[in-house]
Amino acid sequence: MIRVFAIAAVAAVVPIAAAAEPCPGHPDALGTERVLAVDAGTTPRVGRKSFPDTLPFQRKELVLTFDDGPWPGTTPKILDALKAECVRATFFLLGRNVAAHPAIARRELAEGHSLGHHTFSHPLLGRMAPGRAEAEIDRGIAEDEFALYGRRRRDPTTPFFRFPGFVSNPALLDRLQARHIVVFGADVWASDWNPMSPAQELRLILARIDHVGSGIVLFHDTKSQTAAMLPAFLHELKRRGYRIVHVVPAGNRANFN
Ligand SMILES: [Zn+2]
Repeated sequence: MIRVFAIAAVAAVVPIAAAAEPCPGHPDALGTERVLAVDAGTTPRVGRKSFPDTLPFQRKELVLTFDDGPWPGTTPKILDALKAECVRATFFLLGRNVAAHPAIARRELAEGHSLGHHTFSHPLLGRMAPGRAEAEIDRGIAEDEFALYGRRRRDPTTPFFRFPGFVSNPALLDRLQARHIVVFGADVWASDWNPMSPAQELRLILARIDHVGSGIVLFHDTKSQTAAMLPAFLHELKRRGYRIVHVVPAGNRANFN
């Protein structure tokens, strides 16, 4: 059974129906425990690696996130693994990769994942002039929106954003908050930007998750060792009693620009 906690004050139109379905043919699947509607008005910045707070997690609850894709070869394997366990995740898309591989981005959407934004070309925004930085954010959003929904726009359908390298600055954070876009950090990461075997990555991330107990987990769907370890990772989460939370945007988007 899926429980819904809308943390926004407004009654939200949340796409929960798809998440409530059982996992066909996999009664022992990890599954998706609940849907959490996230609103910039109440939680503008989340993830304790960068910010004071995170989402309102219960014990052993995890949000799975994947950055920098879509990428041929690795992202489809990750989607296969998530689908096999009926797990819904969040992908922070790189506009450059979406423009090159729009079909993979559309598959992510079709399979019920949340699609946030991660700039067009992955610059470290906090070190750029504010106007140039915001233009990069907007170019990424526009590419993502065009591939997914057929319209280039700067107010994203899913107003979730993650800074490349977590490099922000106060002015940009304020700007995104004014635009009602939730900035996602992370609570735990796999360090999968470092070369390591799938088995090493599996041990490392499980140890870190056991240490923090709950939170937003960061992977990169461009990394082959992450794609390779994901089926074993999901199986082990189930065995250890972890539960998956699917984050979705709260309510219909007004135009906050
Ligand atoms: Zn990134």
